[in-house]
Amino acid sequence: MATKVTKKHILNCQFSNWYSLFRTLSPKARVIKPIPASILRYLNEDGIYIKDVSNTIEDLTDEEDGNGEEQEDIHVSSYYPDKPTIQLIDRIISELDGAVVPKLNWSSPKDALWMMPTGTMKCTSAEDVLLLLKSSDFIAHDLDYAFDDCIEEDAQEADLTNQKFPSEFSHELILKEWFPIHSSTEFRCFIKGKNLVAICQRDDNYYDFLEDDMKEFLPLLQDLASKLSEFPDPNFVFDAYVQKNRAWLIDINPFCARTDGLLFAWTELYAMDSEAEGPEIRLIPK
Ligand code: ADP
Repeated sequence: MATKVTKKHILNCQFSNWYSLFRTLSPKARVIKPIPASILRYLNEDGIYIKDVSNTIEDLTDEEDGNGEEQEDIHVSSYYPDKPTIQLIDRIISELDGAVVPKLNWSSPKDALWMMPTGTMKCTSAEDVLLLLKSSDFIAHDLDYAFDDCIEEDAQEADLTNQKFPSEFSHELILKEWFPIHSSTEFRCFIKGKNLVAICQRDDNYYDFLEDDMKEFLPLLQDLASKLSEFPDPNFVFDAYVQKNRAWLIDINPFCARTDGLLFAWTELYAMDSEAEGPEIRLIPK
C-alpha cells in the first residue's frame, strides 16, 4: 500500500534535519540556514546571469517578442548576490579544502552538469556554485514546489496546508566537501518499518565486480542502516557511498514515489514485507 507523504516527512528529509542527527556518518558539509536573502533573490529572478570579462553581469534570457515568437535577448542585469555573501561562500569553500558540491534543502543541481567545464558538480568558487544552482530545474523545484502534493496528517498539518511553506520552514544552502566518488559503489537503500528491505545501485551502468563485492558491501550498508534508527520516520530511503571499509551516508529521501525507486518499482516497494529477514538486492544486469 502506498505511503502518503506529509509535510512533516518532507521536512524530516531536509539536509539540515538529518545531518544534525547523523553528522559523523556523512562526509563533511556546511549548512547556511537560512539561505542568504541575496542568493534566494538571485535564484528566483528570471534568466541566467553570467559575469563577462569586463566584470559586468549579463542576463541571458529567452524573451517573447510582441508577436509571440521567441528571440534570444542579452541584456545587463544589475542583480547578483552581494559581496559579503560571495565572500562567505568562498571562505567556506576554502575551509572545505577548495572544492564543494552545492545543494539546497533536498536536491543537488545534478541536472545542470552541462554548465560546468568539468562536467561535474565540483565547484571551486562562489561563482561556480551560483551558476550551477541557477541552471538547475531540481533546485527550482526545491525553491517552489517541494511541498506540492503532500497530504495533511492531522489538524496541525492541516493548519499548514494553505501556506506554500510550513511556518517553521526556511531554505538552506548546503556546501558539501567535494571528493572523488566512484559511482559504481553508490547505493540506494530502502527502509521500511525501520528495517532495510531493499538495496540497489544508483548508477545505471553494469559493473562486473559488483556481484562479488556486494558480499562485502552488504554488512557495511546494514551497519549504516542500523545507525539511522533515530530518524523520525519508520519508512525512508537513504543513499550511501561505499569507500574502502566504510559506508557513508549521502542523503535521505522520503519513502514514496517522488523518490526515484531506481531498480525497484514503487508498487514492489510498497508491497515488501517490512519484517523481511534480509534486503532484496538489485544490480544492473550484464
Ligand atoms: P540528490 O539528492 O540531488 O540526488 P545527492 O546529495 O544524493 O543529491 O548527490 C547526487 C550525486 O552527487 C551523488 O550520487 C554523487 O555522485 C554526487 N555527490 C554527492 N555528494 C558528493 C560529494 N561530497 N563529492 C562529490 N560528489 C558528490
